[in-house]
Amino acid sequence: MTNQHLVERMRAFGTTIFAEMSALAVETGSINLGQGFPDTDGPREILDAAIRSINSGHNQYPPGPGVRSLREAIAEHQSNYYGLDYQPDGEVLVTAGATEAITAAILALCEPGDEVIAFEPTYDSYAASIAMAHAVLKPVRLDGPDFAVDHDRLLAQVTDRTKVLLINSPHNPTGRVLTETELGWIRDLAVERDLVVITDEVYEHLVFDGVHRPLATFPGMRERTIQISSAGKTFAVTGWKVGWACSTPELITAVTTTKQFLTYVNAGPLQYAVAEGLRLPADRITEVRDRLRAGRDQLTEGLIAAGIPPFICQGTYFLTADVSPLGYADGVDFCFDLPKKVGVVAVPSRVFYTDPGPAKSYVRFAFSKQPEVLAEAAARLAKLG
Ligand code: PMP
Ligand code: GLN
Repeated sequence: MTNQHLVERMRAFGTTIFAEMSALAVETGSINLGQGFPDTDGPREILDAAIRSINSGHNQYPPGPGVRSLREAIAEHQSNYYGLDYQPDGEVLVTAGATEAITAAILALCEPGDEVIAFEPTYDSYAASIAMAHAVLKPVRLDGPDFAVDHDRLLAQVTDRTKVLLINSPHNPTGRVLTETELGWIRDLAVERDLVVITDEVYEHLVFDGVHRPLATFPGMRERTIQISSAGKTFAVTGWKVGWACSTPELITAVTTTKQFLTYVNAGPLQYAVAEGLRLPADRITEVRDRLRAGRDQLTEGLIAAGIPPFICQGTYFLTADVSPLGYADGVDFCFDLPKKVGVVAVPSRVFYTDPGPAKSYVRFAFSKQPEVLAEAAARLAKLG
């Protein structure tokens, strides 16, 4: 039923697919491979640091840009991992997760009618943020089996109203990591047309095959990129909602202006803990990644055995499979049958597209779960065949 109170441009959004599918998992007692969150805590050190932080009285509003120790730790992280230099004062902004950073950036940069190019499938908050800004999403579809960028399709979406390129790599939901060539195309386009690029790099440390190279490291990109990430995925603490944006003082000032009226600030005590996390030895972060890689491999086997071999996934929490071999032309029908039939929840990929094309029958499965949970899910999925 249409909600007459809701502004027209938001009516298409309803309840997020993640909330809907998680509720269905609870209602049916199913294994939840829908919403992407881990069922294991992150490194002990950062959990202890958070407790310490609360007990040491860090419980009031943190400063608007984020606590200094976290901004310093983010700057160190960018320098140590990518050789990128950001000043903790003025070039780093702490946000309520990556979600707020993306929304604040779009609200800051887009006039009504401005166009934002993004690869689809797109993470669900992108289209909503763009709608809230009265801007227009111009999708560039990535098609299976490899979800490579089609350069002509990308260029075909460029117009005089193009304002922002919104790039997500490693990519949710496909698990694709953009290649150097593809990143080079995006770089050339941004420089030629003088565009700002927002990069969503929340899965930067969850790359299993290949390497993550931030677009900001390409020539001419540091000054036109708003680089966004978050502690949620790196440290397996998705509920903490501590994210950040790094860019030039001008762009960070613009994003801060909108951000300060969305939440002002958030998660004060947790910000200190994330600062400690970013300074942990690299192997504490690669342990999180390695556990996920094992999950990917285990669920890949399970999906193959169930008759729906997944596409290659280089990173993130997610595998995508085409469920048409099981007689489903539409992933939505499959996802509503799955809990009833075998007690597993997944997410239909078509919700991430404006035009799914062949992806109508694709389904996303999260593998960020413990081995015994994935084993049980695989056993249940095997009954589908
Ligand atoms: N971008 C992508 C691609 C995501 O998958 C997610 C959710 N995990 C987010 C942004 C949101 O991140 P956060 O929870 O830090 O807001
Ligand atoms: N990023 C998570 C996913 O893709 C979900 C986050 C959310 O529920 N908004 O599943």
